[in-house]
Amino acid sequence: MEQSQIEFRNVSFRYQENMPWVLKNVSFTIDADEWVAIIGHNGSGKSTIAKLMNGLLFPEEGEILVNGKKVEPETVWGVRKQVGMVFQNPDNQFVGTTVRDDVAFGMENHGMPRELMIERIQQSLEAVKMSEYERHEPHRLSGGQKQRVAIASVLAVSPKYIILDEATAMLDPKGRKEIMRTIREVQEQRNLSLITITHDLKEVTQASRVLVMNQGEVWMEGTPRDVFSKKDQLIEIGLDTPFVSKLADHLRTASMHLSREPLNHQELLEELW
Ligand code: ADP
Repeated sequence: MEQSQIEFRNVSFRYQENMPWVLKNVSFTIDADEWVAIIGHNGSGKSTIAKLMNGLLFPEEGEILVNGKKVEPETVWGVRKQVGMVFQNPDNQFVGTTVRDDVAFGMENHGMPRELMIERIQQSLEAVKMSEYERHEPHRLSGGQKQRVAIASVLAVSPKYIILDEATAMLDPKGRKEIMRTIREVQEQRNLSLITITHDLKEVTQASRVLVMNQGEVWMEGTPRDVFSKKDQLIEIGLDTPFVSKLADHLRTASMHLSREPLNHQELLEELW
């Protein structure tokens, strides 16, 4: 049976031979249907992990397996069909003159038949609530709408995993909240695995698991509850924010969250966001 997971096995990476290691012996697994948040200070290696998962870079040591297949130059197109990626700045991702063209572009790269493309364009724009903008110019949309189109373009290829690398960083708080809601809905409808890389620790509460990176290593791993309960350790690596303090205090007192479930309880989020 085909394995449904992304696996990093003792991965080490540096951008050039004479440069320091950016990732050091990193191992973790992301299973089907999981929502994993990757956090860590600037330069801790988060984006490098994302690029390695998607075959934009390749490890110098160790290996990465996507659904049991090693990520290497020969397998990279198959990997990208499974692992979609949404970046911080949607403007850098647009290639078409209309929203529709743009969503079609990724599918064209994968050589999908035209009939299927038409169906997928409609389905994916519907999923992100952008159907009525099909013939609009992407550059004229708002930041949040642009990010919805970028997500639709990735969904259209029907990946099993979607990486969002700081995908909400350019949005205002309202825009962020809306995008996160859409992402949650899409994940539930399509049984996707999500990997979110974010500086916004509020977003992390929605994940089922958190990887904390520090200086190129996986420094801590656990449910949002596990991670946010260790406030003092997060402060040690520069991840303290008023939100972390608030959440840690909340976790200490709230009896309703004593289980190991993810923190995606609506009431808790409404209270803390
Ligand atoms: P993060 O996403 O956690 O901010 P990155 O993965 O972007 O971290 O970067 C990890 C380290 O790799 C940093 O020290 C960064 O300066 C370095 N780095 C990132 N991209 C490149 C590159 N293209 N060439 C050389 N060094 C890079």
